[in-house]
Amino acid sequence: MAKFLRWPNWLKELYKEKRGDPGEIQKLIKLKDLHTVCQEAHCPNIRECFGSGKATFLIMGNKCTRNCRFCNIGSGTPSPLDISEIDHIIDSIGIMGLNYIVITSVTRDDLHDGGAGFYSDLVLRIRERYPNIGIELLIPDFKGEIGSLEKLVHAPLDILNHNVETVPYLYNAVRPQANFETSLFVLDYYKKSGFITKSGVMVGLGETIQELLETFSRLVRIDTDILTIGQYLQPSLEHYPVKKYYSLEEFDILRDKALDLGFKEVFSGPFVRSSFKADETKLVKRR
Ligand code: SF4
Repeated sequence: MAKFLRWPNWLKELYKEKRGDPGEIQKLIKLKDLHTVCQEAHCPNIRECFGSGKATFLIMGNKCTRNCRFCNIGSGTPSPLDISEIDHIIDSIGIMGLNYIVITSVTRDDLHDGGAGFYSDLVLRIRERYPNIGIELLIPDFKGEIGSLEKLVHAPLDILNHNVETVPYLYNAVRPQANFETSLFVLDYYKKSGFITKSGVMVGLGETIQELLETFSRLVRIDTDILTIGQYLQPSLEHYPVKKYYSLEEFDILRDKALDLGFKEVFSGPFVRSSFKADETKLVKRR
């Protein structure tokens, strides 16, 4: 029978401190027929983020062509791209009064460019309408194909985020359709194209501290600017089992070690997610 490692009490208490009314943002998302990773991934920060008027839009539908074992987003055959999604996001940014936006997507291996062109069109349209907004993209790996990657090279965005998610050793078990080296290649490609780059890992999947530090070093060697470190929370019994809950002290130690290795900014904590408080980065110049 599958086992579920229960949340420690201190983590439950910390979670209870997260307050906020997500109602208004939920209504808007529904009205505009949009998706958010906050809802699809059952993010633990949803009350806090929605309650303070923030959300991370999930574009190109809510069906992913991959099936990572940690992720709660549904997989299957995605719907055709819907160009009206761009208008709805642009309207929502105005209604929400955002000065910083994080956009992500499902992985669309069914599309010839993995959806890179759609991202590019969306960024251009947002920048046209909101010249001063901070734009952060959390992209899939586009299979590391140059023809796809280059569609975003001139996009007027502020931060290019791509999560390695875990240590290379666990890829087969956790992200069987992805490849650690491809993810590094994507981050390196965009760094060399002049972007501020960002990546993230989940901890608690069975990795060792040594493996984590080696992963951080690999990211630093390609000049990744920002790192997020958060606790993996198992969405259901069918998902990859959580092996360990890191303590607050361990998150602090990992943050300090990552900063020592050379990241410019590190966000580390049990409920840290790649988009959590993304607008608090000091690396984006406010327009
Ligand atoms: S942390 Fe990110 S994904 Fe989670 S609720 Fe906040 S904005 Fe959404």
